[in-house]
Formats: sequence, C-alpha cells, structure tokens
Amino acid sequence: MVNKEQTFEFPTQDGRMCNLINVTGPREPSRGPVLLVHGAGVRANIFRPPNSTNFVNALLDHGYDVWLENWRASIDLPPCEWTLDEAALYDHPAAVNKVVEITGAKTIKAVVHCQGSTSFMLSAIAGLVPQVETIVSNAVSLHPQVSWISRQKGRFAVPVLGKFTPYLNPQWGKQAQGFVPRALRGLVRLTHHECDNDVCRFSSFTYGTGFPVLWRHENLSSETHDWIGQEFANVPLSFFRQMARCLDKGHLVSDMAGLPASSVADKPRTGARIAFIAGEMNDCFKWQSQQASFDWFDRYRPNFHSLHVLGGYGHLDIFIGKNADRDTFPILISELDAPS
Ligand SMILES: [Zn+2]
Repeated sequence: MVNKEQTFEFPTQDGRMCNLINVTGPREPSRGPVLLVHGAGVRANIFRPPNSTNFVNALLDHGYDVWLENWRASIDLPPCEWTLDEAALYDHPAAVNKVVEITGAKTIKAVVHCQGSTSFMLSAIAGLVPQVETIVSNAVSLHPQVSWISRQKGRFAVPVLGKFTPYLNPQWGKQAQGFVPRALRGLVRLTHHECDNDVCRFSSFTYGTGFPVLWRHENLSSETHDWIGQEFANVPLSFFRQMARCLDKGHLVSDMAGLPASSVADKPRTGARIAFIAGEMNDCFKWQSQQASFDWFDRYRPNFHSLHVLGGYGHLDIFIGKNADRDTFPILISELDAPS
C-alpha cells in the first residue's frame, strides 16, 4: 500500500514549532482522527517500522484518519532540554487543537506511548485536552515503576552524568566524538553483549537495565532491528531528573503552574475512556505501572476503563514487533473502536 503524507507545523504557546504528519492510504477514512504520540528520544516515525503491516497501516486499513505528532522530544526537531510538564502544557494541547481545527472533528482518539503517554496523561488529568474521548496508553502513564537497579541508576548516575553532558544519545553507540560519548560507548561495549547493533545496545544502557530493555529480540524482525539504528537519538537529562522525582513519589509530579503538583491528588479532569496496555516482560517500566494507573482511574469511574497485560511482549515491541499485527494491534484497535 502506498501512503501519502502531509506535514502540518504548529506553534506551541512557549514559542517552539512542532508538527503533525497526516498519513492517508488509498481509501478515504471512514472513521475519525487518531493521534499517535511517540516516546522519548525517537520521532513520529517510530510507529512505521519496516514490517509488512505496521501500526499506521493497520489503522488506515481499519478506516482511521491517522495523525502522527512530533512533539518537542522528537529527534526530528532541534534538540531541547524538555520536561514532561512542558510537553503536557504546551505541545499536546496544541496538537489536539490543530487536528480538531483541520479535520473539523468534535472529538478525537489518541494512542500514546511511554513518555508520550506520561506527558499526554498529564495534559488529560489537567483538563487540557477535552476533545480527546479515548486514550490507548502503552507502558506507563501516571504511576511509573522501574526495577530496583534502574532506580539506583537514576538516583546516582543521572546527577553525575548531568555534570558532563545535557543529553544522552544512542547514536554514540555508532559514532562517538568527545570524551563523554566515547567513555559511555566504551562502557556500553563492555557491559552489553546481547546483539551487534550499537544503537540497540546503547538504548538499553540509556533506558533501564536489561539486555535489551525496550523490546524482546525474538519479537523483532532483523529488518526492524537494523531500522532502530536510525530511530534513536538525543534524550535530555532534564527528562531523567523529572522522572527520578516521579519515581521517588510513585506518581507523576509537576512544578509548572497549570498542572497539578501531584498528578493523583485530585479527581482527573478528563472524561476520556482509557485503555491501559502493558507488556508483561517490559524491562523499562514494570507492567505494574499501568495496573496502578488503571486502579486509580477505576476508583473514580468503576468499570469504564480497561487494562491489558500482554504476555510475551516488552516495551516498544507492542508496536514494532514482527507479529504485533496479529498479537497486539487487534487489542489496541478494538479499544479505539469501543464507545466512550
Ligand atoms: Zn539488539
């Protein structure tokens, strides 16, 4: 299937430019807009791995109007030392407004992954994206939980690294210039022997503790494993610092006006139905992260939201796995289709 795409830039309230990619297939959409929000240190393209049916094509086949958001964490945009707060306040509300403005739809749906999910959920609970009626959230939302060893890494390594570099970049696995990138590449080569893809190994070093962290190797085709080598780059330590504070509290915390200081202090200001998705073998965020957020939302509106813990899957392979079209997409799409 040959898709067409059109890019729409949008300004954020604090003066950055982000963009939306509207992907269309050969047929006119028969369903409404779905916004896909990528995670940290990647870009909108992460939903389009070289699998025979990727998530974007599955949504198009099903009739959805697909919108990919490049928010400030995107490696397609100039690097910046972003926080989840900035994305929640400035990027996602502007992206949702732009989709609504262009399409004329009154409501939209969203599929949000990892730090696209945490930041989008902050927007939602603060009442900043009222047009979103359904959210499918993968990996983590309001209650991040990681392994003990990842927690120690965040607690002790991030402050030290922050003295030397504002960013980590999995591309350093391939090409490292300067003392810090070279030293980290050396450390990764010393400690990671799980595959021969330097970006894959460096991403595992960056995002947790595991071999690998972000997928199960057995779930990826060799083409997709090669492809990730171009899809991961800068992620700022400013994000890891905020995440460390959130992990200390057990839920997201913010320090910008317009967002609740504690994400769980008050009733959520969103009427959206939320489907929480987690890979049972996720080595980046534990699947219990999503259980905790589901439980919290369920308390406010029982039997409305849903939780799916998917066996055999990890973090990003939920979207880029070679059998995801058979194993996970039907679950994600049926949650999008369900009435809100
Ligand atoms: Zn690998």
